[in-house]
Amino acid sequence: MSIGWNFDNTFTQLPGKFYSAVKPFPAEKPETVLLNHRLAKELGLDFSGVEKSEIAAMFSGANLPEGADPISQAYAGHQFGHFTMLGDGRAILVGEHIAPGGKRFDIQFKGSGRTPYSRSGDGRATLYSMLREYLISEALHHLGIPATGSLAIAKTGLPVFRETMHPGAVLTRTASSHIRIGTFEYAARFLDTKDQQRLLDYTISRHYPYLSESENKALSLLEQVAEKLLNLVLEWMRVGFIHGVMNTDNMSISGESIDFGPCAFMNQFNPSTAFSSVDINKRYAFSNQPGIIQWNLAIFAGTLLSFIDDDKQKAREAAEAVVQQFKPSFVEQWHGMMGKKLGFQSIEKIEAELIERLIDWMEKTEADYTNTFLALAKPDEASETFRTNENFMKLRSDWKFIIEQHHSGLEEALKVMQKSNPVAIPRNHLVEEALEKASAHDDYTSFHKLLAQLQIPYKKDWDKEELQKVPADFDREYTTFCGT
Ligand code: AMP
Ligand code: MG
Repeated sequence: MSIGWNFDNTFTQLPGKFYSAVKPFPAEKPETVLLNHRLAKELGLDFSGVEKSEIAAMFSGANLPEGADPISQAYAGHQFGHFTMLGDGRAILVGEHIAPGGKRFDIQFKGSGRTPYSRSGDGRATLYSMLREYLISEALHHLGIPATGSLAIAKTGLPVFRETMHPGAVLTRTASSHIRIGTFEYAARFLDTKDQQRLLDYTISRHYPYLSESENKALSLLEQVAEKLLNLVLEWMRVGFIHGVMNTDNMSISGESIDFGPCAFMNQFNPSTAFSSVDINKRYAFSNQPGIIQWNLAIFAGTLLSFIDDDKQKAREAAEAVVQQFKPSFVEQWHGMMGKKLGFQSIEKIEAELIERLIDWMEKTEADYTNTFLALAKPDEASETFRTNENFMKLRSDWKFIIEQHHSGLEEALKVMQKSNPVAIPRNHLVEEALEKASAHDDYTSFHKLLAQLQIPYKKDWDKEELQKVPADFDREYTTFCGT
């Protein structure tokens, strides 16, 4: 029976400097530990009736699906502010699969061995870090936030050394493409104008085909990417997501969350929260994220200048105008987003002031970001911390007054709020417990339980004790790693 792969590989129509042909490193003892049936269905793939060993051979890279044309992609990027040549050091683009609805998906292996871009890396991935990407990508998806998908994880049977020995695994990842700001940086720095033009045209035809008739395609692309990335970071801010490594090579042109290795969700509200072990200066802290997106857009703009206008001055001015607009647009949309979290239909002075007071209160008391909005909606169901806090209860009654006097009342507000305020987010202590048990002890019960909760994040009646009672000390010491 056919699985339903339908490959149509177009990236390889770009000049050869954009990629290198590669082969996955053969796995020793392939074993599929996770297969995402929801995503498989979306892709039009059917694995029922396929031998377990065949599935494992496919997702470990030992036996490629028909139509695959494996390559690794070249790109560069600014890592923590510094330009570097990079490329897929541990990833292989298996091919582009067309789903039944016509949507194109990159199918990529992560952790399948060395490539010409590996530098000193081993090209491998630990099971632990691939499980983390799987869990978080599912969480983001169900929260309604654009993100790369995780189709499967297969253990390779090969050990990976990271201070200690870990089981190695391959994650099969989907993305609307893996074109990054860093891909444009690579072309701008190392390739000629003709090749840069090819990348520009390819990106537009793949992601923004409606721009192909635009008078100034490069400028329009910049505007569209700015809009997509603004929406993305707004969504991250909504749920307390901290990407952790927002280097330009980890910024997708499509506006999907990608390469969120050291990511984590913020529990106690603190704008300077940063968990990543390598983010020493907290460059990618929670509240810095919108500014970093703007910084990354400026880098993207720089790669497009010669296509925006022959006159360098004019090109710079036009690009700068787009980049400068990001901040006021973000601030406006942030108010709209926070407004929804509070059930406001529109934001005037009185609503904006209440938002500010709430933010202040959360920061001063280090209140839990997720729980605060749930407590505002239903204080009776909230923990004592909220109910016995005079300032919070005063805020709550002022908020209720606004909702009743200036909006359509409590009932309507609660409906809006429910869609914006998740109940289940990946709580760091639960994520760690699930990953540790699965990766070190082959026990997936906690992982599947958490995954099930994260797949319906807005459901009201999840076990509060479990999802909302967060050990305060845990996050103070919590450190995440890039997952290499
Ligand atoms: P990341 O921070 O995961 O986005 O990775 C940054 C860069 O390092 C990318 O070019 C990766 O391909 C590369 N890289 C990460 N881990 C490894 C590894 N184990 N082996 C080779 N290259 C790697
Ligand atoms: Mg990356």
